[in-house]
Amino acid sequence: MDTTQDLSSSDSILQKFASVIENPKKVEPGVKLYTGVDLGTAYLVLAVIDEEGNPVAGAMQFAQVVKDGLVVDYLGAVDIVRGLKVELEEKLGRVLDLAAVAFPPGTGKGDARTIRNVAEAAGFEVIAEIDEPTAANAVLGITDGAVVDIGGGTTGTAIIQAGKVVNVSDDPTGGTHFSLVIAGAFKISFEEAEDRKKSPQGRTEVIHLLRPVMEKVAFIINNHLKEYSVEAVYLAGGTSCLEGIENVVSQIVGVPVLKPANPFLVTPLGIAMYCRAGSASNE
Ligand code: ATP
Repeated sequence: MDTTQDLSSSDSILQKFASVIENPKKVEPGVKLYTGVDLGTAYLVLAVIDEEGNPVAGAMQFAQVVKDGLVVDYLGAVDIVRGLKVELEEKLGRVLDLAAVAFPPGTGKGDARTIRNVAEAAGFEVIAEIDEPTAANAVLGITDGAVVDIGGGTTGTAIIQAGKVVNVSDDPTGGTHFSLVIAGAFKISFEEAEDRKKSPQGRTEVIHLLRPVMEKVAFIINNHLKEYSVEAVYLAGGTSCLEGIENVVSQIVGVPVLKPANPFLVTPLGIAMYCRAGSASNE
């Protein structure tokens, strides 16, 4: 029996989100807007949805102000979030005030507080906070299985049973490590390695180098699944964009591995959904 869940409705909302990043949607005055602020190791991303949950805009910037879920350059992070907020406000002709933030599972209270402080210092009222794989599942809507967010610095795994997150964990391996392998092998800078990894042309030269790192991520995931009966794994996070990573994970974990249309956009959009849900529960 096929027990995998269909990702077509998440694919459709992710495609809408990708399109409003290019062309923000016109929003009538009075429509409430909710922002997801994703402070990642590699990217800072803002996702904006309206009161019906439709994506209306998004913006992102590559930056190294967060490391493995910890803010290492507080002022730099505030500056970037404020800049992205202003950029979106100008595009939408609206003020963005309500936000939610997310952190990798296992982040200490103090570190989660710092992530919240960044968004507040950038001018947001933070009304919800959530761990990253749980945020990702707001988009994927998985009721049974594992949601794995392979980001820039970390891989977060959430085990979901009967619609409830029963376990979350985090490991310090992500896309940064893939880029470091490329940089070392070709003796190029980290930034060049990032570009090569992400560009469809550059990638064919490097994909064979990346298999051992993909396997490492797969063994990490496998470790977390051992104690649970998981019948499928659903990928999110920018590193899940790597072609073929789902096959490597599936071979090692031994269950089907599915990924949505644009794994990179899943978590930021999910954080915005938590913002909207947080607002509804405060009313
Ligand atoms: P973390 O969640 O670990 O703090 P993050 O939030 O920055 O990090 P994401 O934004 O989900 O993580 O993903 C960023 C990572 O995804 C980077 O390492 C980036 O190089 C990688 N990435 C983004 N797009 C692609 C792509 N098309 N192909 C391969 N890797 C990609």
